[in-house]
Amino acid sequence: MLDQQTLNNLIMGLAVWSAAFLVALWLSLIIWTYRDIRSRARDPLIRILAIIIVALLFLPGIVVYLILRPARTLEDEYQHTLEEEALLQSIEDIPLCPGCGSRIKDTWSVCPHCHTRLKKACHQCRKLMELSWNICPYCGTPTPGMRRENMTMDDVTRPNPLDEEAPPGETVVIDEPKNTTAHF
Ligand SMILES: [Zn+2]
Ligand SMILES: [Zn+2]
Repeated sequence: MLDQQTLNNLIMGLAVWSAAFLVALWLSLIIWTYRDIRSRARDPLIRILAIIIVALLFLPGIVVYLILRPARTLEDEYQHTLEEEALLQSIEDIPLCPGCGSRIKDTWSVCPHCHTRLKKACHQCRKLMELSWNICPYCGTPTPGMRRENMTMDDVTRPNPLDEEAPPGETVVIDEPKNTTAHF
């Protein structure tokens, strides 16, 4: 029923179709590899190498590429970095005692482990504030004796002995101009 000529044409057509399909598949795989490696590697040398492997080895090349390609895409890598940074940030946000490094709470004024002074209380409203602050952010009262660093509450409330009784020899003599008294 089929003569030789028709059979030849059929085989020829099938061969051409197969060849066209293989070429299309080959090109598609190269394009796919190019897109895939572009999302996984920044290094142009690795990109070119991946395309060459697939272009030369064809289907086995794809297998080799799938085995050797970077596991994470650049997008995944970026997300991973963000997560790590967020994790690191949350660790850094936990307040630590400057004396012994143990975890402390913002509301503590003294470290319970090493007794390091963490905060000072405002002498007016008693709210806690940083040791370095010279003025209370809640009521606006300036810290007494703000010249001295790391002053304890006792130091602040205790009157300065120099103010009460000056030791002998250091008595400050105030020279009042004599002529001004005559006017009043
Ligand atoms: Zn401590
Ligand atoms: Zn205050």
